Amino acid sequence: RTRELTGRREAVLGASYRLFYRRPVHLVRGEGAYLWDADGRRYLDAYNNVASLGHCHPAVVAAVTEQMQQLNTHTRYLHERILDYTDELLTTMPPGLDKAMYMCTGSEANDLAIRVAKAYSGGEGMIATTEAYHGTSELTSGVSPALGAGQPIAPTTRLVPAPDAYRLGAPGSAALEAAGRDGVDVGRWFADRVRAAIAGMEADGIKLAGFIADSIFSSDGVLPGPAGCLAEAVEVVHRAGGIVIADEVQPGFGRTGDAFWGFRRHGVVPDVVTLGKPMGNGIPVSGLVAKADVLAAFSDRVPYFNTFGGNPVSMAAAQAVLTTIREEGLQEHSRVVGRELLAELRGLAAAHPSVGDVRGAGLFIGFELVADAELRTPDRDLALAVLEELRERGVLTSVAGPHGNVLKLRPPLAFRTTDIDQLVSALDASLTALGA
Ligand code: PMP
Repeated sequence: RTRELTGRREAVLGASYRLFYRRPVHLVRGEGAYLWDADGRRYLDAYNNVASLGHCHPAVVAAVTEQMQQLNTHTRYLHERILDYTDELLTTMPPGLDKAMYMCTGSEANDLAIRVAKAYSGGEGMIATTEAYHGTSELTSGVSPALGAGQPIAPTTRLVPAPDAYRLGAPGSAALEAAGRDGVDVGRWFADRVRAAIAGMEADGIKLAGFIADSIFSSDGVLPGPAGCLAEAVEVVHRAGGIVIADEVQPGFGRTGDAFWGFRRHGVVPDVVTLGKPMGNGIPVSGLVAKADVLAAFSDRVPYFNTFGGNPVSMAAAQAVLTTIREEGLQEHSRVVGRELLAELRGLAAAHPSVGDVRGAGLFIGFELVADAELRTPDRDLALAVLEELRERGVLTSVAGPHGNVLKLRPPLAFRTTDIDQLVSALDASLTALGA
């Protein structure tokens, strides 16, 4: 059956639509942090931040069903849901971030954010990190390599390496040599890269528009950086007249545990925040929240219309998400369970020399596999083999980072303390089976 479905896909779908795993998983049902395949096999979902409350969460199913039975339409009529949701959403933001707009995907949110940055600053130049993924539109992929090789980068974009504390601190690293005995100040190091990028841009006659970053650099290898490490870079961007866009598509909605939004870990206030993935727990809805004067530079001049953005059904889903996070205490849950999981995973590192680094915040954890612990050499083949082994043991996840050697552990927030055992013992057994 899997082969038949794969064949049908190949016949009718574009080839760039890739699936996970050599032998794809054919899913038919989800509940909480679990997924079931067509043979009735249960998997622990250690990857999915879309169904962040848990797969098919009853509160979202009920809210969507009820609204769908009553009304759903495009967004050119008055309806209350969008206002009720926005009032609630804005209470989660720092003061000053007080205007919202809605779309359907993270790509559209970032696309609009980049347009806002250009309108407000009068500049064209964007700064992003080397491996960041901010979306699939021409604008967003123009400011980030968007899934690697072959993607065109806009000539006005400058890329800076994400703050990888593990590699910066490696014996013999240039950053460590330069820092000497005090060790590397990751925030200063990163701000210096941003400063250099701005200087290079200006030397090419390009004016800075903005800087876009995840507050946990996900595609760059799940790099949380030390808390606060974005602060100096943000200052540098502001002083140069650019705006700061926090892409919260992955870290947002309580996932990092210590705060509702990932940028809070760094003590910064962005000018624009973009939202997506978990916002509707599976219903496509995304958003942009901005400072009023920043947004006005765009929206007072340019009309923007998004047929489905902020429609009653997606707003109903989004409202149920906010309510459930609060009622079920999911942010605190993420903090507590994430801390426990991180400790258990670090325990594994002691037993397996191939585990180079374990890092994260809340339920957003990177587990880095290396061929040589001393030299910190990335081991992509091992990471891919571990993925397959984990799948055989009923755990689904994926890899990230420029070398594809970092397991991305980002389960639904419904992940419970009891799931830690399954994940950690599956990882332990997988590494042992591979002699790692
Ligand atoms: N930003 C980040 C950080 C993302 O991870 C993604 C999706 N992987 C996007 C933007 C784009 O979101 P979407 O796929 O919904 O367009």
